[in-house]
Formats: sequence, C-alpha cells, structure tokens
Amino acid sequence: MRLRFAPSPTGYIHIGNVRTAVYNYIIAKKYNAELILRIEDTDKERSTKEYETMLIEDLKWLGLAWAEGPDTGGSCGPYRQSERFKIYKDFTERLLQNGNAYHCYCTPEELEAHRKEAAAANKPIVYSGRCRNLPAVEKMKFEAMGRKPSVRFKLPEDVSIEIDDKIKGRVVFDSENIGGDFIIVRSDGVPVYNYIVVIDDAMMKITNIIRGEDHLSNTPKQILVAKALGFTPPVYAHHGLVLGPDRSKLSKRHGITSLRRYREQGYLADALLNYLSMLGWASESGEEIFSIDEIAKQIDIEKLSNSPAVFDFQKLKWMNGQYLRKYPLDKITDLFIPYIKEAGYDPNKIEKQQLEVIISILQKKCDLLSEIKSFIGIFLAEVLEPDEETDMLLKEEDSKKIITEAYEFIKTNTADKDSLIGALVSFAKGRTGLKGKKLFMPIRGILTGRLKGPELDDVVPVIGLDKSRKRIEYMFNRYI
Ligand code: GLU
Repeated sequence: MRLRFAPSPTGYIHIGNVRTAVYNYIIAKKYNAELILRIEDTDKERSTKEYETMLIEDLKWLGLAWAEGPDTGGSCGPYRQSERFKIYKDFTERLLQNGNAYHCYCTPEELEAHRKEAAAANKPIVYSGRCRNLPAVEKMKFEAMGRKPSVRFKLPEDVSIEIDDKIKGRVVFDSENIGGDFIIVRSDGVPVYNYIVVIDDAMMKITNIIRGEDHLSNTPKQILVAKALGFTPPVYAHHGLVLGPDRSKLSKRHGITSLRRYREQGYLADALLNYLSMLGWASESGEEIFSIDEIAKQIDIEKLSNSPAVFDFQKLKWMNGQYLRKYPLDKITDLFIPYIKEAGYDPNKIEKQQLEVIISILQKKCDLLSEIKSFIGIFLAEVLEPDEETDMLLKEEDSKKIITEAYEFIKTNTADKDSLIGALVSFAKGRTGLKGKKLFMPIRGILTGRLKGPELDDVVPVIGLDKSRKRIEYMFNRYI
C-alpha cells in the first residue's frame, strides 16, 4: 500500500488539510504502508518555497513522517510538481497523438461569452467542443494570429464513471455532467491539477487516496484521464470536511485555522494529533485520550469520518490541558521557557529549583503553553500592575478596607513565608468582618494583581515575605 499527502504551499497549512495528512499518516502506520509527501506547487503566483519549508517543518513538529518526499528523496521523485513539467509534457504528447486530447484555440473572451450565454439561459456551462475537430487550415489561421492553444481532454460520450469510494460508498458520475472537454494544459503551458495529479499518483505508484470530499467532484475527471493514459486508478476514500461551530467551512472567523498558529499558541503536538485524528471519529469505549499507535489500531479507512465534523475549539484546548499536565517537569519546563522569555523574563536568572516549583504550580493552571505569559509575573515581578477587573474590584469600598488592614498587618506581623497567607486572611477577616469572596478576592488582587490564577497558598511561599510586603505597600499607596 502506498499513500500520499499532496498539499499546495500557498500559505500556512490549514488545520483541515492537516487532518487529511494525519489520516494518511495513521492509515500508513496501521498497514505499514509508505507515505509520500508531494508538493503541488504549480500555481507559481501563490506557491512559495518559504511556505513549503514551513509546511514541512510544521508537519514534522506535529510528529508526522513520510518515507518519500522533497526533503527525504526517494525513487519516484522529484516530489515537487514544479520539477516534473517534462514528465507531464511527454504524457500530453501521448494524449494528443492518440486522439485523447486536442489543441483548443478559443480565447478567454470567447469562453467567457459562452459562459455568460449559458448562465443567462440557466444552462450548465459545458464547453461546446468547437475545437475538437478543427480543420488544419483553421488551426494555421489561429497560429498565424499568434493564438497559443490550450490542450483539452476529449471526454468520452455517454459513459458513466463509477467510484467505489471506501468512505462514501458507490458514487456514479455521468460523463455528460462533467462540463465538456476540460483543459489539461493551459495556453501558457502550465498543466492543471486534475491532469497532473493522475500522472503523479500513477508514477509514484499510489494505491490509495485519502482526501477531503471537496475533491470528490474532481475524481471522475481523474479516473477518465487515468484510463486514457492506461493507468489503473487508485482506490479512493473521500472523508467529510471540517466545519466551524456555525457549520460553515472552518475559517479564520471561527478561530485559529493554521497549524503554525496553534503551535505558536502553545498547543502540544501530541494533543493536536490526538484531537485531529478523533475529529469525526469516536472510539468504541468512548475514551478520548489516545496515542497515535492506539488510534491506528482502532481506526480504519472505512471508519474515517464521512459526514462533516465540527471543530470544537474548547475541546481541543481542554485536551491540550490534559496532555500538558501529564508531561514530566523537565520536559514541560523546556516547552514553557520560550513563553517565559516572551513575557520578558530571563529564565536563566531564576534559580533552577525555584523555576521548577513555579512550573509545577503553573502546569496545573495552564491549558496552553502561552498561558504562562499571563501568570509568570505573579511569581517573578516585584510588584504587579492590577489588570482591569482587579482594578475595578480594588476600587470598591470593601476592598479598600482589606487593603488598609493588609497594610496594618505587614507593619506588625511576625508570620514566616509559609504561614503568611493564613495569618493575613484571619487578620483581615477579624478586623473587617468580611468573608468568602469579599475577603479572598481582594487579597488575591493585592498580592497578584489578578483575580484568577494559581492558589495563593502556592504563590505566597514562593514569592516570600519581602515581595508580599512590597506588593501590599504598593496597592496601599495606589488605592488608599
Ligand atoms: N493539492 C491538492 C490540495 O491541496 C491535493 C488534492 C488531492 O489530494 O488530490 O487540495
């Protein structure tokens, strides 16, 4: 079995396409099959080398691996379509010679006029076949006018194309409904996707194609081209697409859509891999946290999602938190460090043991690595500017009473760093009569500048007496 993933490097890779890659990876793993990465970069305006580099980097970061590809090489290369034009050209010659394709001299204006006519008459747009049997003199006339022909595939008449799709089941297309003879090489010499994908899949000996159902309507064209070239078409499996919560195609309006941004936000590769492979598929036991090997054992091509799957951003975040909390301390510390730096702190200046204590507290609190940025200052800053909601709370009369008492407390207290918070709470409670949230939230606000975050019982022993005093003093001066 040989599978392939064939992205176009026209931007950061979309999470929906990543899911297709993950499906191919898992199925390849399951059957010990070869996975090929092919870069579909014929759209010169939109494809860039940088995007290709990032795509490969991001997929590797996710944990995917392939047996053959532009970076690894292999016996069926090159693996970039832009480097395979000679191969396509030879096949085009063959199709022209055996009468399965022909030169078309219609201009874009003529085709556009034809399209408009069809639209006005409410008819499907079907190429008229005008150039199918163009007499030699006419051809010469067009050539003399300087027209560059495109190459069209001659659609066989009255045939039905049957696909035995592993996910969709039996799907039948009628050659009459494909839109007429279609272009396989544009007039600028660039061959089109529906044509070259067939050549590449055959030359790369691909046996199974797993891709999104948005490509189902391309499949009859691809099968007809394969047959005209004497190839046996591969086995197809078209899975359902990923939708946003409003059930429209997942887009930036809904949230993050590129793998790169998930990575930057501090999602973990194994959590993402787990989530994406379970998107649209449920295990029999109902369990959700699985390693890729376990998923490969349970899943199969037929079980890949047929219907659209709604992307649940909250669930992914939750799952990430589950993974994050399970990581060993040294590993999670390494992963947090870039984010600590982003928050403006130098982890090298923090004593190792203290850093470990801080990380083990925050590991419980963060669902994403980047969330450490809003918590780390609680431990490392001298004093903290209150955020907006804390500022609102500390301006309230009851809060001011607590600030005043906290200030009184530090003037007289003899508690050590471990008993400080307990002593402060009972002092403030005794003097103000406040309790519950009214008591605890202002104290949290005074000491951390935030209303949310790690437990004060965890925080105060780490920041110690001096810092706690300074912070109380700072808030006293600010609010009283
Ligand atoms: N380059 C195509 C895409 O990114 C690949 C489609 C296919 O798998 O055939 O959608």
